[in-house]
Amino acid sequence: MGEKIDIAIVGGGPAGITAAIYGARARVKTVVFETGLPGGQIVSASHVENFPGFPNGVSGQELGDLMIQQAQNQGAEFRTLSPVEAIGPAADGFVLTVGGEEIAARVVILATGAIPKKLAIPGEAEFTGRGVSWCATCDGPLYREKSVAVIGGGDSATQEAIYLAKIAKEVHLIHRRVELRATQCLQDECFFNPQIKMHLSHVVDEIVGENGKVKGVKLRSKDDGSESILLVDGVFEFVGIDPQSSLVAGMCELDDVGFVKVDPNGLTTCKGMYAAGDVSNYELKQVVTACARGAFAAFHAAHYLERKDLN
Ligand code: NAP
Repeated sequence: MGEKIDIAIVGGGPAGITAAIYGARARVKTVVFETGLPGGQIVSASHVENFPGFPNGVSGQELGDLMIQQAQNQGAEFRTLSPVEAIGPAADGFVLTVGGEEIAARVVILATGAIPKKLAIPGEAEFTGRGVSWCATCDGPLYREKSVAVIGGGDSATQEAIYLAKIAKEVHLIHRRVELRATQCLQDECFFNPQIKMHLSHVVDEIVGENGKVKGVKLRSKDDGSESILLVDGVFEFVGIDPQSSLVAGMCELDDVGFVKVDPNGLTTCKGMYAAGDVSNYELKQVVTACARGAFAAFHAAHYLERKDLN
């Protein structure tokens, strides 16, 4: 094992990128491991309106690209060829298995984020990529002048319904309760948008199709149990996120959903291991807080290394 990294950041979304900026500026050897293109979930967000500095909002893709450029300008290194397959303890920190090779790291910041949850209902797997999607930015343009259903009542569902309403003929927002969970301004925008039809207190039991494509959804009212078919050409699911914490499941404590437990400094229950962003168990999950948590984790990780060097 020749190489030794000071701070290994696993995951290149807003939390990991910000941690990389802080690590690079602390002049410790900082490497971000990410498979494929860095940027994380943010690159598939259609429009981000609550990240300061962009008075008219910014596309998730543009914001992600700018963050990566900034980290690279500060000297952070991104390795995107192979996934981190395992993380294990070592005498002076951790050992990461990356593409079959072992790399030593004194500190790890886990910023692996989360992935969109699936509903696991009939028709979902069959029509994935044939009308069922988890990314409005990627697939929305296919539904110009067509009808789509958006399932969920949180920030993602409402934000992406607003985006889709600019493209599609009509958007049906289907939520299982009467109250939406989303931030009030997103709720207001949905309720006042004539192209967004609300189906509150309804669940989707099945996605139905014809000739290999989505044709509609089977709706059930939670009030009276009545069932109906809503004809749509596409279905977008935004029903929450699953944390990507399996790499550290045996090492750090997770909460009952699988988010990594962290203290206010981003330290996990495992010495030398920090976590930031959507994979960790802090409350307000936004791009700006992911960035802030990445900064905290890298700041405290760099201090931890300094203290270790003094001893
Ligand atoms: P979320 O806030 O967890 O909302 C998930 C929604 O899906 C909830 O309304 C939930 O209903 C519903 N749901 C969950 N399981 C369901 C099921 N089996 N069947 C039907 N509906 C189901 O998830 P999110 O909207 O993906 O957002 C994830 C995190 O990112 C949140 O912390 C959010 O604030 C943040 N985010 C922020 C922004 C922004 O700041 N612009 C944008 C997007 C996301 P209930 O309400 O009944 O539980």
